[in-house]
Amino acid sequence: MLEGKIAIVTGGTRGIGYEIALKFLKEKATVIIFGSKEESVEKAIEKIKNIKYDYSIEGYYPNLGKEEEIREVFQKIYDTYGNIDILVNNAGISSYTNLTEYEEEEVNNIININLKAVFTCSKIASSFMEEKGGVILNTSSMVSLYGQKSGSMYPATKEAVNGLTKSLARELGKKKIRVNAVAPGVIETDMVRNLPKEKIEPLIGQIPLGRMGTGEDVANAFLFLASDMASYISGEILQVDGALVN
Ligand code: NAD
Repeated sequence: MLEGKIAIVTGGTRGIGYEIALKFLKEKATVIIFGSKEESVEKAIEKIKNIKYDYSIEGYYPNLGKEEEIREVFQKIYDTYGNIDILVNNAGISSYTNLTEYEEEEVNNIININLKAVFTCSKIASSFMEEKGGVILNTSSMVSLYGQKSGSMYPATKEAVNGLTKSLARELGKKKIRVNAVAPGVIETDMVRNLPKEKIEPLIGQIPLGRMGTGEDVANAFLFLASDMASYISGEILQVDGALVN
């Protein structure tokens, strides 16, 4: 479904991003993953190459808070492959801090990674997509649609990502760039595995499909939206949550 396409996946070293990278590779895309550290990027690439040695994958670890660093890496990718077709803005950090306990540093960190980096990567990618068009996909969250009891900055940034998605779909449509988001529900990754049992179990009980989602459930939605099967879909926030948010 993605033969010949060049795709960048931020936060591609583990969890949902890793599954997206793997899914895109299986569909014959060239995939460039971004991670936060050299070590985690190398580990993820090694793991993927062990599955199939000839997957076309490489990785970088730009500081997602620094526009110039991101731009340099995008330029390097463009110079190597001659195009950038797909950007998946997936890197993200969760939060469960109570309102009065938030420190400025955590607030800035969440905004930087969950929102500003999505904006900056989209801005830079769109300039490389101007000639041939492209696809920008963002990882939102079900909590962007109904909030959460603590860690308010997390849903705040994810709702902002929905707004960015809808606005960029309008702004970039004329350049043949489609922009969509996927809003996962409760997905079994490290982010969720690290949560206390008493937080996660009641949530699973409320999921109409009766189970947590897998990274692959979410990656399938990304594959559809990245592919030409979704050629007339833009500005959509696709919920992948087992009907939890209705
Ligand atoms: P994860 O913690 O397993 O992976 C997060 C990824 O983001 C990692 O690859 C990490 O390297 C990257 N990242 C984090 N901080 C970074 C930084 N400062 N610089 C660069 N990269 C950084 O989490 P996940 O569950 O796979 O989450 C992926 C995305 O899905 C996130 O945007 C998250 O908000 C969203 N999401 C997850 C769930 C869930 O249930 N797991 C639900 C809804 C939305």
